[in-house]
Amino acid sequence: MPEGFSASADAFTCPCGGGVYRLCCAPLHRGLKRAETAEELMRSRYSAFARAEVGYLLATHPEQGRDDKVRRAELLRSCRQTRWLGLTIREVRAGGSDDLEGTVVFEARYRGGVLKESSLFQRRDSSLAGDWLYIRAVALET
Ligand SMILES: [Zn+2]
Repeated sequence: MPEGFSASADAFTCPCGGGVYRLCCAPLHRGLKRAETAEELMRSRYSAFARAEVGYLLATHPEQGRDDKVRRAELLRSCRQTRWLGLTIREVRAGGSDDLEGTVVFEARYRGGVLKESSLFQRRDSSLAGDWLYIRAVALET
């Protein structure tokens, strides 16, 4: 990734596949825009994993009682060890602007395999004004 060309450095395709990074997940990673839907948060978390945006991953996934320093180290290691190759959203249930909860079923390809997961998202404080948060993976129905 070229560094030092601030105007063009974000002109590559977003890891989530949603277009140019600058217009897709970058504003979310930088706190300039918030995810309006569970799917948008899911996509932005995927691209945060691909781009090692660890602060964003921490902020969008509360884990009570766990030390942030430990989590940060774990996430950094995971980001460095995994080469993410692409994301496919399979199914979205609820998680819209009028919902407090939603699930997103996705496949995330990485070098060496595919992660298939159904993720549960909820709004902070169970309020429509609250930001979307990743809660946990839920069992995939077959
Ligand atoms: Zn994106």
